[in-house]
Amino acid sequence: KRRRSLSVEEYVNGVLNRDRAVIARAITLVESNSPKHFETAQQVLKQLMPYTGKAVRVGITGVPGAGKSTLIEKFGSMLCEAGHHLAVLAVDPSSSVSRGSILGDKTRMETLSKHPNAYVRPSPSGGTLGGVARKSRETMLICEAAGYDVIFVETVGVGQSEITVRSMVDFFLVLMLTGGGDELQGMKKGIMEIADAIFINKADGKNKQAALNAKAEYNRLLHYLQPATPGWETKAYTVSALTGEGVPHIWEIIKGYEEKMKESGFFQERRASQLSEWMDRLIEDELKMSFYQTEKVKSHLPSFKQKVTAGELPLAQAVKQLMEIYRQ
Ligand code: GDP
Repeated sequence: KRRRSLSVEEYVNGVLNRDRAVIARAITLVESNSPKHFETAQQVLKQLMPYTGKAVRVGITGVPGAGKSTLIEKFGSMLCEAGHHLAVLAVDPSSSVSRGSILGDKTRMETLSKHPNAYVRPSPSGGTLGGVARKSRETMLICEAAGYDVIFVETVGVGQSEITVRSMVDFFLVLMLTGGGDELQGMKKGIMEIADAIFINKADGKNKQAALNAKAEYNRLLHYLQPATPGWETKAYTVSALTGEGVPHIWEIIKGYEEKMKESGFFQERRASQLSEWMDRLIEDELKMSFYQTEKVKSHLPSFKQKVTAGELPLAQAVKQLMEIYRQ
């Protein structure tokens, strides 16, 4: 059965009244790939704009199995019980590739999803990481307009997606595991450099001492790294998402961070530079799309490629000529 489509006003009012059905439909609208929906979505977003930006935005990452969903369930429920309104979003670039997405295929956060103060939304499927992330960012704005005062953006720690999520949140939390002395390996350095806090999860039972050792090791290493946020010292902590030990402390750290960064002005400054970064990225995406979709480019591209690979035309010259064809 087809549902009656909503007007821009109905979307806006429904979101502002925190009508869950309308919020879900507004998110579906911004996630849509159809040009017709795009126009409506942008009108809705424009009207919601004045009501956005008031939440604290927290990115959460970690390798599969690190305990992200267990932690979000525990930590999120705690926040909701304390009266917060929490939206949990996900950025999972693999969601477009197959059904078996890394974040979406299990029943996750069952208790939290049922909490009246929580809104849990799976990752949009957008093709590219950029597409997925753009949609998640707009979803975040809708949730803020609906009065959610804490936003979690979850992503798997497998590469580029962490950098993308970092560029849409205020605070970036990395979940780690203890792992047989490989704590200091180079691969982890990159992620440590964008973290505002590192939590070594599963610090319980027989693993507790190992987690405490890992924490000391991480703190030693962090000492030599440039902090992700100027004026903030990134530290490592232990936590158990399973028992809940250390979970309340996460909120204290985030609140402390928010207060300090608002005082220094960096909180607002980062949000502004994030917007400017996003704008550049969208322009790049648009330009790229426009280039490759231009009929004249499409018809000339294969022969230019052929000439380049045959060594008949220098690469840079080929590109220059194609750009001229594009501009005509
Ligand atoms: P995700 O893939 O990062 O979302 O990880 P999950 O939250 O699904 O957790 C992976 C596994 O680790 C599950 O079997 C959890 O029960 C377990 N787990 C998560 N957190 C903890 C913890 O703090 N302690 C222990 N012992 N197990 C945990």
